[in-house]
Amino acid sequence: MTFSAELFRAEFGYFRQHPDWIYLDNAATMQKPAVVLEAIQQFYLTQNSNVHRSAHYLSQLATQAFEQSRRTIAQFLNAGSSHQVIFQSGATAAFNQLVFGLTGTVLNAGDRVLLTVLEHHANLVPWQLHAKSAGIELDFVPLDQQNRLDLDAYQRLLQRKPKVVSFAQVSNALGHIQPMEPMIKLAKAAGALVVVDGAQGVVWQQPDLQALDIDAYIFSGHKLYGPTGIGVLCAKTALLEQLKPLFGGGEMIQHVSLETVSFAALPYRLEAGTPNMAGAIGLAAAVNWLQQQDLDGLKLHKTQLLTELYAACMQIPQIELLSQSNLNAGILLFNLKNEHPADVAELLNQFKLAARAGSHCAMPLFQHLNCNGAVRLSLAGYTTNAEIAQVIAILKKLPEFF
Ligand code: PLP
Repeated sequence: MTFSAELFRAEFGYFRQHPDWIYLDNAATMQKPAVVLEAIQQFYLTQNSNVHRSAHYLSQLATQAFEQSRRTIAQFLNAGSSHQVIFQSGATAAFNQLVFGLTGTVLNAGDRVLLTVLEHHANLVPWQLHAKSAGIELDFVPLDQQNRLDLDAYQRLLQRKPKVVSFAQVSNALGHIQPMEPMIKLAKAAGALVVVDGAQGVVWQQPDLQALDIDAYIFSGHKLYGPTGIGVLCAKTALLEQLKPLFGGGEMIQHVSLETVSFAALPYRLEAGTPNMAGAIGLAAAVNWLQQQDLDGLKLHKTQLLTELYAACMQIPQIELLSQSNLNAGILLFNLKNEHPADVAELLNQFKLAARAGSHCAMPLFQHLNCNGAVRLSLAGYTTNAEIAQVIAILKKLPEFF
């Protein structure tokens, strides 16, 4: 059976509420299928209780559902063990925990960390906040002429022996899929730990963490057809054991006196306070649902739509394309010559096309590209051929309005 965007889309009630709109802001957040909403509602209706704390039956129901979600995510990523899945409020929180936890333990003054110039601020600002101020040096892989990562420069920068290499699987601004496998192999050969920001990548291709030998993988639920307020830091046990907890409080302790504290075992050591139980259960529902879909068909569908969109844009002389279709997981990043991207997005809004303009939480990338922002159209499995035909018609008309 071939992938049908129409059937896939029918599972999303959101589109029945907004039949006139074309939603192409999926890199910001995705819509949720009915199964995810139902799983969250069922949890609150039938299982809601605080997890891990109480001996009563209802708490056991909630704990079982929550811990089952952890197992689902561990299996999805082939992590090896469920205690490697640390629930966080999102990718940003996960990066803050990771970087804070590494600083002063694994990373010390004079050590180096290798990032790239196109990282989302979530994979940059925590390094600046915690690591740089502790004397850890940051290096950045530049881009080549086609806005791809410059792999020669990457290899040269690896000779500086970074202790950690951290990069996005898929760029949230350009949509480019990074050559993750060779990058990991090179980083490992240089002796570095590898952190992968899967916030945009996980929906394109979930990684096999053990096969790829990724030390830490991070993503947010809401960019994987799941709920907001839940994300995952999934890392090797030895690495997690070295992390200092960013948050202290209930759940994460083994014993506390007025003077001392000892911490609980993983994963609880890094999950202070009441976790987002419904979020974790909703995320597991999204993952289970996604695994039942024709994922190859879904990818092909997105690639075909994107190819069509790019081909049409190449025919519009006023459009400047910043990203490339052949490397891409579903994003068109462009500018209209001499126009401000915010004005373009506002005009698209009038056509009921939801797009995003700006620097997409990747300001250094736009400094590198020498422009102050761009318009981003991002696709999902529920984007239809009819919508892309409409988008192309709108883009052709755009220059007339300025
Ligand atoms: N990393 C990338 C590549 C992203 O695209 C995003 C969000 O856009 C994040 C990290 C941060 O995710 P969140 O805002 O869900 O914490």
